[in-house]
Amino acid sequence: MSIKANILHIKNSLSDHAALVAVTKTKSTVEILEAYDTGHRVFGENRIQEMTEKWKALPKDIEWHMIGHVQRNKVKYMAEYVSLVHGVDSFRLLKEIDKQAKKYDRVIACLFQMHIAEEDTKFGLDEEELHEILSSAEFKSLENVNIKGLMGMATFTNDENQVRKEFRYLKTIFDNVKERLTDCTILSMGMSGDYKIAIEEGSNMVRIGSSIFGTRNY
Ligand SMILES: *Cc1c(COP(=O)(O)O)cnc(C)c1O
Repeated sequence: MSIKANILHIKNSLSDHAALVAVTKTKSTVEILEAYDTGHRVFGENRIQEMTEKWKALPKDIEWHMIGHVQRNKVKYMAEYVSLVHGVDSFRLLKEIDKQAKKYDRVIACLFQMHIAEEDTKFGLDEEELHEILSSAEFKSLENVNIKGLMGMATFTNDENQVRKEFRYLKTIFDNVKERLTDCTILSMGMSGDYKIAIEEGSNMVRIGSSIFGTRNY
């Protein structure tokens, strides 16, 4: 199937349940434009340099989401344009995003990335770290970032019950944080292999790459 057919099929199957971030890492501007031409405008990348090159080359009404791990020294390259940072996994990173956003007089929307997988290679906060941030006075004083929700990645496994359990756990944290932060409305969970389970467990934003654009060529 073509990129066009794939993205239309997926959006149709998501209907109103979840927003789609079309993940374009390693994919060319030509391939991205094929998805763009269906009317889709939200794209995700996991490397700031690659995202910035694509932002420069492509139409400016695209919303770029940074979905990968962010190094603090690279925040400055995306501060001008990024529309949602999914992978905020430390207070130091959040403060750097706030600082860089200020230079452009912007408020950058962010998600806290939670560590829910069994593998310890995946980044993210644990519940205790999250609550420590949320209750600090310094967090409340940040004016150029806005926490819009949470993101998480499940363990890479064929064990559906494991994946479901991890998404369910993230949903409980999300419900909890929602009580404390008024703008906390986005729960970003689910990728090509597990987004159907994620939606069943309460996801309202999925990040899908290979099911739209095919396997990646690194
Ligand atoms: C690459 C990536 C995705 C998309 O993965 P697919 O399996 O290709 O859908 C989703 N989320 C993150 C954080 C990624 O890095």
